Formats: sequence, C-alpha cells, structure tokens
Amino acid sequence: MIHFNVPPFVGTEIKYMKEAVESKKICGDGKFTHRCNKWMQDNFNSHKVMLTTSGSSALDMAALLCDIDPGDEVILPSYTFSSTANAFVLAGAKLVFVDIRPDTMNIDEGKIEDAITTKTKAICVVHYAGVSCEMDTIMEIARTHGLKVVEDAAQGVMSSYKGRALGTIGDFGCYSFHETKNFSMGEGGAISVNDELYIEKAEILREKGTNRAQFFRGQVAKYNWVDFGDSYLQSDLNAAYLWAQLEQAEAINNNRLHTWNIYMEAFSDLERRGIIECPKIPEGCVHNAHMFYIKCKDLNTRQAYIRYMKENDILCVFHYVPLHSSPAGKKFGRFHGNDQYTTTESDRLVRLPLYYNIAEENVDKVINRTLEFFL
Ligand SMILES: *Cc1c(COP(=O)(O)O)cnc(C)c1O
Repeated sequence: MIHFNVPPFVGTEIKYMKEAVESKKICGDGKFTHRCNKWMQDNFNSHKVMLTTSGSSALDMAALLCDIDPGDEVILPSYTFSSTANAFVLAGAKLVFVDIRPDTMNIDEGKIEDAITTKTKAICVVHYAGVSCEMDTIMEIARTHGLKVVEDAAQGVMSSYKGRALGTIGDFGCYSFHETKNFSMGEGGAISVNDELYIEKAEILREKGTNRAQFFRGQVAKYNWVDFGDSYLQSDLNAAYLWAQLEQAEAINNNRLHTWNIYMEAFSDLERRGIIECPKIPEGCVHNAHMFYIKCKDLNTRQAYIRYMKENDILCVFHYVPLHSSPAGKKFGRFHGNDQYTTTESDRLVRLPLYYNIAEENVDKVINRTLEFFL
C-alpha cells in the first residue's frame, strides 16, 4: 500500500524528547520551545514567532487579535479547511467568501475589493499547497481600506513570496505542525506577530490573559491577570520533537521538492495534451512542495481515477469541500459574487502521495499507474 501521507521522522526526535523529559521541564516555553521560536524568527526574518498547540489555535489567536466587533465581516476563500473559518467565528465575525483563482487555488485578489463593506475588518488569505497568494495586491487593498491581514500559512513553512517568508507579510501569520504538514510535532502550530504593537497582546492572549512573559523578562515585578486569554502553549515535549525536524528543515524541504519535480516532469506530456492540469507556481513564489495535485477533466473522471489508484493499492485523495456549501458555512457566512471556480476546480482536484523520504520506486508506481489510467 502506498499511503497518501507518512508523518516526517528524521531519527533525532526521541533523543531530544528524552532530553526534555530529563530536564524536568516539560510544560510550555521550555528550552526546545525557545529554540523552535528562535529558529523560525531567524529563518523567516520575523520579530516574534511563538509555538502554539495547533495551526487552528494560531488562527484563533490571530482572529482574536484583529479587534473584531460583533457584526464585523472577514473576507476569506471558501476553498479552505474549516479552521480558517472557525477562528473568525470565534472572534464574532461574519464570513464573506470570495472566489479563488484556478491556477493556484488561492483567493482571487481581483475579487476582494468588491466584497469590502463598511463592516469589513480583515482579509484572511490561505497559501494553498504552500504557494503564495498575490500578496502585493492584497496588502495594498488592505492598507487602502484599513483592514488587517491574516495569512493562513499552515501549509507554507519554508515557502516565500518575493523573498519574504510566508506568514511574515500580513499582520499575523499562522503555521501548522500537524502530522500531515511538512514539519511535525504531532499536533502543533505557531503564530508570527508581524505588527510589533501586537506582540505584548499576543503574549498575554497565549498565557491565559496574564503578563507572565513580561514577568519572566523582569519587565514587571509580579504577574497579573490583565486581559482575556486562553492557553495556547504546547508542551516542550512536542517542541523537542519538532526541533529535530527544524534542524534538518533544508534536507526535508529538498527531499520533498525532488519528488514534486519528478511528478511534474512525468506528467508534463499529459498536461501538454490537455488531459490533466498540473500545479502552477507564479513568478516570485518559491514553494515547499507541500502538495502535488493534478486536476482531471471533471468530477466523474477524478472519482474514477481515485478508484483505479485504490485498486492498485495507491491512496490518492481529493481535498476541501467548499465551505460555503457546507452547513456551518451557510450558517456563518455568505458567498460574495459568482462561484466561478471554487466548486468546479475543487471537484476536479486530486492529491498524490508525497511525503518526506517516499521511496522512488513508489513514486514510479504512482506515475506508471496514472499514465496507464489516462492514456
Ligand atoms: C492544517 C491546516 C490548518 C489547521 O492546522 P492544525 O495544526 O491541524 O490545527 C489550518 N488551515 C490550513 C490551510 C491547513 O492546511
């Protein structure tokens, strides 16, 4: 059986977890958490990155930091995971879904401005498959209308847009280290706070509403409950696991890109002949091979392809059911404008097995069975 995903494992995870256990400090913000935070700050060129319990909780934090009042609106794509939307529901916002671009499956920056009302407070973009949204245009729209920008960069660790790491361009960036992502700690995530005015608020929100972080830095004499907060600190055990992988981030990233490029090369002929479509990487975007997908002619072809691959012991999977067509999407939001691409493109998309250290013979099998099916 060729699995769709196998969680990354480099071998030093257990050594570091043992070290964390023996240090007798396994709660949040221990040695490994600090190492991971610093690594991300240095590599992403961010003032402040903090590990969280999940990508979802990083998104919750970002949404809660957007100063949303009841009835305010947030613009986001419908083609995304429920967590992107949940965060803004938690913050009390109404969701306004906008169509995607067919080439990257990212929010169509050309359709955002028309969805802005007097109630709009923020734009939340999702960098699908670790390929960046058109951030220059999006940031310009946001600055013109005084809106916050949250980047759901859950899939975008090690990706960049015009030389800047994803998650560091908007006001807040959110990463995921779930076991299905490029780097993992089982469950976990991180938030990059890019507007320095929000760093202190973010620390307080993450630390149950207390100013403990300032206390530990010696900035205040005792710590207090100063605002609303929650617990978004993950255990240092999880951070130890992640640290092993961040230390080898370059190798993991290159390994994934290698597989991605093999797929791309192998399917170029099918694409030239108009049988399938492959991912598009816009100019200025450097991606992290989070995902390799193809788009079939239509839904029926995709389902037949998934079935054919499964019969051959290969697990290929479709992706998001658009949120605006789901029960909670209808309850909490509305779709602005025409759904020209969101539904049709998501119906056609299928993801192929791609994970760290996938055996080349397995990649060959996926390719050969795929060529067999389509030719
Ligand atoms: C994985 C993912 C999330 C959620 O991350 P968790 O760590 O699983 O909570 C949110 N948004 C997107 C786009 C994701 O891919």
